Amino acid sequence: MENIIKDIDLIAPEEAQACDFKTTGDENTGKSKKLYIESYGCQMNFSDSEIVASIMKENGFDTTSDFEEADVIFLNTCSIREKAELTVRKRLSQFNTLKKSKPEMTIGVLGCMAERLKEKLLEEEKIVDLVVGPDAYRDLPNLVSSAEDGHKGVNTFLSREETYADISPIRLNSNGVSAFISIMRGCDNMCSFCVVPFTRGRERSRDPFSIVEEAKDLFEKGYKEVTLLGQNVDSYKWSPEENNKARLNKKEEQVSSLINFAHLLEMVAKVSPKLRVRFSTSHPKDITDEVLYTIKRYDNICKYIHLPVQSGNSRVLEMMNRTYDREWYLGRISKIREILGEECGISSDMITGFCTETEEEHRNTLSLMDIVQYDFSYMFFYSERPGTLAAKKYEDDIPLDIKKRRLAEIIEKQSAISLERNKLDVGKIQEILIEGKSKRSEEQLKGRNSANKVVIIPNNKFQKGDYVKVKITDCSAATLFGEVVS
Ligand code: SAM
Ligand code: SF4
Repeated sequence: MENIIKDIDLIAPEEAQACDFKTTGDENTGKSKKLYIESYGCQMNFSDSEIVASIMKENGFDTTSDFEEADVIFLNTCSIREKAELTVRKRLSQFNTLKKSKPEMTIGVLGCMAERLKEKLLEEEKIVDLVVGPDAYRDLPNLVSSAEDGHKGVNTFLSREETYADISPIRLNSNGVSAFISIMRGCDNMCSFCVVPFTRGRERSRDPFSIVEEAKDLFEKGYKEVTLLGQNVDSYKWSPEENNKARLNKKEEQVSSLINFAHLLEMVAKVSPKLRVRFSTSHPKDITDEVLYTIKRYDNICKYIHLPVQSGNSRVLEMMNRTYDREWYLGRISKIREILGEECGISSDMITGFCTETEEEHRNTLSLMDIVQYDFSYMFFYSERPGTLAAKKYEDDIPLDIKKRRLAEIIEKQSAISLERNKLDVGKIQEILIEGKSKRSEEQLKGRNSANKVVIIPNNKFQKGDYVKVKITDCSAATLFGEVVS
């Protein structure tokens, strides 16, 4: 099945492949030192690797896509599921031979796995020289320099303010059309299954003016789409005096001005009507009607919302500490449909086999899927993560075969729903943004509609970055097919 990517427990649409495993692109300018980065996990990690590349470039390192010629190798890692960590460990073992033949090469583990395991990672993985958490990337040049002198280093300091707002990311593996902009870091929610609050620290929002500047700069360079990234974008809140969410909540009355996510969306949408704006991830407890009306008001804000539900059962949601129940979630979906209509794309994340989940509760997830009619979903079985609230409080008591069977059931349901949702598009005229050639054939182009669905059209005079009006003529569960409307 084409949309199964590296994690066997993760099913995602085509576009998610970009956030599973990638090497850097060539940025070579002939300087001597070379950096090779691989990113694992979510889009935030890809965005972070672009910040890392920029910090390293300032210090004399160009990126390379050939790890054999690298002086420094960074693996920017993910801890969200056990499988993600095992993949990184396997990759490290593959670098063993290289390191033996090139002992002067520096190998660094960055990101969530570094933050979670700290010094332990140096003990467990002998080839690793550096362990650096997501808030310590400014220290990378120093740490690399010490490693070159033979001193291994660890920096997993978690900041309450760092947003890397002043760093202009180097776009890696870019199609030159779409780019990510990180708008906030960390997460203050404490979903009981999730390791992110422990690996990425407290929630802070980035200066909105630096975000707008980054969007303008991208547009001037020819980009046509930006995706605003954060673990919980609806919770974005910034004031000139304070960017840390918890502290800001305490002194909201005293700050000179406040920018929330609806304001930020509007500011970015105004950069140009020809710059599409997307965002991810929305949290059901935080997405406001103000945000929905802002999306409606601007044609260039894409009509697509990723609104992870995790489970369709209120008791399980409570154990997950998601702070909403099934009814609240369905209420938000009704509001999206009321304000943005049937054509707005909606996707979700779901976890099967969370602690104590019964068959009936699992069926509640299936029935919620029938009601919501998601366009697509990222689906996982529960993977207990050390240190999380769930690991401390609950027994991981659902056998793996049951977790997997339930996962297969939701995947099957999602496939059927995706096909039905896509069929509704057949016959419609939609505007797509061309991203490049289709992977399958030189004869076809690949674009995306506002609802984030991939649309394949015959290759003709169009270029990457063109907006094209197409009539949808056919579909599969994963893709729409169209022809250009003259
Ligand atoms: N902040 C986003 C939100 O709350 O929706 C999601 C961030 S997380 C990187 C992406 C997804 O991974 C989650 O929505 C959840 O479905 C899944 N996930 C997180 N922890 C997990 C775990 N322990 N086992 C399985 N899936 C997990
Ligand atoms: Fe994890 Fe929940 Fe935060 Fe998402 S909102 S990153 S699932 S703690």
